[in-house]
Amino acid sequence: MGEDLFFAPMSRYKTYLIFGPPGSGKGTQGVTLGSLPQFFHCACGDVFRSLDTRTELGQSFLYFSGKGELVPDEITIKLWQVRIADCVKAHQFRPEVDALVLDGIPRNVRQAEIMEEMIDVRKVFHLSCPDRKALVKRLQRRALKDNRLDDADEEVIRERLAVYDTLSKPLLNFYGEKLIRTIDATQTPVKVLAEIIDTIVCEG
Ligand code: ADP
Repeated sequence: MGEDLFFAPMSRYKTYLIFGPPGSGKGTQGVTLGSLPQFFHCACGDVFRSLDTRTELGQSFLYFSGKGELVPDEITIKLWQVRIADCVKAHQFRPEVDALVLDGIPRNVRQAEIMEEMIDVRKVFHLSCPDRKALVKRLQRRALKDNRLDDADEEVIRERLAVYDTLSKPLLNFYGEKLIRTIDATQTPVKVLAEIIDTIVCEG
């Protein structure tokens, strides 16, 4: 898949990123924020999980996520673009009025670079949780609740946390201090949400 396949929208989408390690609560915050008027939430993991696992793409997702690794960038960005375009066509996401809330993408610097021409990142909400044991516990609980196989195996969890540290964390440098709002992810979900909303209201 060549870079020429990545097309830019007419103008860049106004975007908020929910960023943090697996288990930090990105999904919970994304869904809640996305339920408000004029916000549209898209979780990259959900896009992958909605694939038919009998297709080549679905198999590819199972292969990489089963090992705790990232799906290759080209496949990921293309799939995300198609999903967003579908949502625009279906009038679920109205870029002229809605802010885009992304969680799980971009997940490394290369994805961020490719996406620069599509998204105008207004703020990166960094859900910080240095306590790795707490994250592992949360993921294991989620494995039972949501039937997530990649959450069930402790070795896979450790790999995902390592991938976060080496590939995703450098995104904080990429976006720079001014765009980042670090929030303590061990607080209750409502407190995390309050901080996110407060920042959006005050800083736009
Ligand atoms: P979590 O945030 O708990 O790690 P996600 O649901 O966001 O879980 O992602 C599950 C899996 O889907 C990841 O481990 C990875 O294999 C794949 N994935 C999700 N988003 C991306 C992305 N932007 N780039 C590459 N792979 C991704």
